[in-house]
Amino acid sequence: MSQTTGNRAVFLDRDGTIMEDSNYVGDVERVVVIPSAVTALQRLQEAGYKLFIITNQSGVGRGYFTHEAVESIHAHLDEHFGRHGVHFDRYYVCPHHPEDNCDCRKPKPKFLLDATREYGLDLPHCFMIGDRTSDIQAGINAGVPTILVLTGVGRETLAKREVKPNHVAEDIGAAAVWILKDKP
Ligand SMILES: [Mg+2]
Ligand SMILES: [Zn+2]
Repeated sequence: MSQTTGNRAVFLDRDGTIMEDSNYVGDVERVVVIPSAVTALQRLQEAGYKLFIITNQSGVGRGYFTHEAVESIHAHLDEHFGRHGVHFDRYYVCPHHPEDNCDCRKPKPKFLLDATREYGLDLPHCFMIGDRTSDIQAGINAGVPTILVLTGVGRETLAKREVKPNHVAEDIGAAAVWILKDKP
């Protein structure tokens, strides 16, 4: 058995995973946090998992909203979750239009690999949680176990069967329970 030497982390998609996905959210007033997210992230953080948000925000590249608007949403999430003691270690945002063919848009694994280098993560003991094929594929591309949540567009993603996640969970709360089951 190999010993865990690096840090554990959970990579979280944002829209449809920790907050409702209502098509290119660029306005703080439209942010609705998924109910089970606070408790789920509290438990994961208490168990020693770092928390990274990895989000494609092509609404910036499409000119629907600014990078500042994205940052204000993240400040809002920090405040909301922070009230419950949950701290996101970092937000990784791809602001590009899909046609830009950038190197950071999921399913590319760049942000997961950047975080791994920067925070000394032990990838096989990390998890990627998201509601789209691109989230699951990003995890697979990085070599991280994946969980598809059925919030957001998760049910459509499951029906498409384009990728095979390691686990399917009703929501982020059930995903956290699965991660923490039988773990020291
Ligand atoms: Mg999503
Ligand atoms: Zn990008």
